[in-house]
Amino acid sequence: MASTPLTTRPTDVDVAVIGTGFSGLGMAINLKQSGRDDFVVLEAADDLGGTWRDNHYPGCGCDVPSHLYSFSFEPNPDWSRQFAPQAEIWAYLRHCAEKYEVTGHIRYNNRVESAEWDEAGGFWHVRTSRGYWRAKSLVSGIGGLSRPSYPTIPGIENFRGRTFHSQQWDHDYDLAGKRVAVIGTGASAIQFVPQIAADVGELHLFQRTPPWVVPKPDRAVTRLEQALFKRLPSAQLAVRNALYWQLESRALAFVVQPRLMKLMERQARRHLRKQVPDRDLRKRLTPDYTLGCKRVLISDDYYPALTRDNVNLVTDGIAEVREHSIVTADGNEREVDAIIYGTGFAATDPIGPMKITGRNGADLRETFAETGTEAFLGTTVSGFPNLFLLTGPNTGLGHNSMVYMIESQIALVMDTLKAIDYEGLAAVEVKRASQDAYNHWVHEHTKEAVWNTGGCKSWYLDANGKNVTLWPGFTWDFRRRTRRFPARHFELLRAEDLAPAVVSAEIEPANAA
Ligand code: NAP
Repeated sequence: MASTPLTTRPTDVDVAVIGTGFSGLGMAINLKQSGRDDFVVLEAADDLGGTWRDNHYPGCGCDVPSHLYSFSFEPNPDWSRQFAPQAEIWAYLRHCAEKYEVTGHIRYNNRVESAEWDEAGGFWHVRTSRGYWRAKSLVSGIGGLSRPSYPTIPGIENFRGRTFHSQQWDHDYDLAGKRVAVIGTGASAIQFVPQIAADVGELHLFQRTPPWVVPKPDRAVTRLEQALFKRLPSAQLAVRNALYWQLESRALAFVVQPRLMKLMERQARRHLRKQVPDRDLRKRLTPDYTLGCKRVLISDDYYPALTRDNVNLVTDGIAEVREHSIVTADGNEREVDAIIYGTGFAATDPIGPMKITGRNGADLRETFAETGTEAFLGTTVSGFPNLFLLTGPNTGLGHNSMVYMIESQIALVMDTLKAIDYEGLAAVEVKRASQDAYNHWVHEHTKEAVWNTGGCKSWYLDANGKNVTLWPGFTWDFRRRTRRFPARHFELLRAEDLAPAVVSAEIEPANAA
């Protein structure tokens, strides 16, 4: 696989894209399809695939139906199941990259460390672990769920057994017969717990908050269906549309009228009653907040796994970790050989460890800290010209396919790039007033949503209880807003509007090298 040699000399490109998950690849493919060739895709790892490359824990798969959780321009008639497993989704992404000929644009082993806006030149200086690019536009597709979050528990550093996060599953570590602690009961844990429960000697599942779990309408896609989808793509499109509207209708309950969640709660309680005969266990698995406040989980094998004799649901908080054990608040000490963290991701931080410096030396992390994690249409931030954040603030979903949102954002970026070229602009920058008005609207709309009113704590909200991750509405509304570059909300900067040339001391020697 191509990887860039260590260099201090910049390579000039029109667009630099960061990441090769659904966002980065989708962006690259759209650029290519529009006839653009002058772009690079910077990837930290040595292979493509983003979250579907990184998450390979047992049982990993998508909890959104695959006919919908895929690019609109590349339906896959070969999905083996309604909810495809990770390996198939990863293979699908590889297939897309190859079919649409973007693999040659990917520079592997290039972790973006910093990006600095050059006010005189009108481009981004993008520095990676191995190289240096100058790009007129920068599109980040790093995803919100790529940086593991670890719990801070007293004594955790003293533990002598094996530990790993669900996203960094150690397949070489043989769990057979071991005493295993799993911390967390979110979307990842409910997928891997049933897979390992029969193998391990003892499984202690540390639950802080019980999730709502509903039945998973999964099944194999029949050969007949696959053949039909191949011969008659419109049939697969009809299935995709039906799935979209089925999931989209749930936005009514999430955003408009959380009381409607009672219907789904009834279904979830029925599921629990059917699968868990033990009254006490059932009680401990019953959430005390409104369904939808946290991600709704779908599984048919999670509850049955918890009824096994070797599985122990622990609901007392963890007080301390010792060299070979975990002690809970009630003083109970459980000896374990391994701890698996199913503790999720740093999801409220859309830029990860990258240092992004915009106009007047503004640091994006500090800007987010001051103004809140906000962007216009979840994509562009005032003070940061020609920077686009895919899956940026308030673009996440609790009810439908993220690929739909990603494709909406990509459409916005594509139309913006077109406008820049057509108008001969050096850069565009969203107006502060437009960004503020938009975010005012977002946060007014989120007030009544179930994430804010449902009585739970979740990664959807930041430390101040503000929803910085989810789109508070219908996804078709987001698509409508992102269809065209809304010029009136942007400063349109021509070359003569850019600041007089001031060459950064840090950059000059590198260029001269
Ligand atoms: P998550 O949903 O954030 O769940 C983390 C779990 O760890 C929660 O149960 C949380 O408890 C618990 N936890 C965190 N810190 C803890 C601590 N200090 N002590 C005890 N428990 C602690 O993470 P995830 O399961 O990895 O899923 C993250 C997101 O990834 C999902 O919401 C979803 O968007 C995505 N995902 C999607 C799929 C898919 O099929 N599409 C699959 C997996 C993941 P609390 O609830 O009390 O905070």
